[in-house]
Amino acid sequence: MGFLRNWRRKHVLKSARLDEALWKRVAARLSFLRGLSEEETGRLKQLVILFLAEKEMHGAQGLQLTDEVRLSIAAQACLPILNLGLEAYEGWVGVVVYPGEFRVRKEEMDENGIVHIFDEELAGEAWPGGPVILSWEDVGLAERGYNVVIHEFAHKIHMDGAGDADFPAARAGMDAAKWRETLEQAYRRFCSEVDAGRPTFIDPYAAEHPAEFFAVMSEAFFTESAVLARDWPELYWQF
Ligand SMILES: [Zn+2]
Repeated sequence: MGFLRNWRRKHVLKSARLDEALWKRVAARLSFLRGLSEEETGRLKQLVILFLAEKEMHGAQGLQLTDEVRLSIAAQACLPILNLGLEAYEGWVGVVVYPGEFRVRKEEMDENGIVHIFDEELAGEAWPGGPVILSWEDVGLAERGYNVVIHEFAHKIHMDGAGDADFPAARAGMDAAKWRETLEQAYRRFCSEVDAGRPTFIDPYAAEHPAEFFAVMSEAFFTESAVLARDWPELYWQF
């Protein structure tokens, strides 16, 4: 399996080329890609080629996915796995893109055991073992500190490994205890800052759940790394 996949990937990389003019147009709108070195950009492009070959992207509600849309989503999805490899996104293939926010039905049980069913409008969602769902309108809102593609694909990285419901597992070569402790401490500190009503640079939505904290901090790490390094140096170092 591994051998065959490697062979296929080599073949894809040999035969596929990225349209450079298109890449330039897409990258110009993703300012955070400017921080990458030439070597990193080269590796990102290779990952993007493989991502587009191995994943299936579909437009929903009549949305036509242009090459530009596909490339933009692939570039943002591959940035978080630049040093992890495409293996981090194994076990699923689909990316579904809605024109705007999409409605999903949620069920939640309250403390009295009563189940509430309600509709929610979402900008993105990631299913364990299933697709990533994105709102193209929100992808277009990508700016410093907010990036729905990185957010949802960070959830995918979390779902991939041996982590638990709260946090993803440490990667090979990391101090697993330190990783966990740093995330837990940072999450506690963030929640107490939000509870105290202190304004936070980072989206307060990160206080919802440890898994959301990881996804939101991933957005910050890739799109506003200077802020993360300044305010959350230990977390920055772990990321
Ligand atoms: Zn989330």
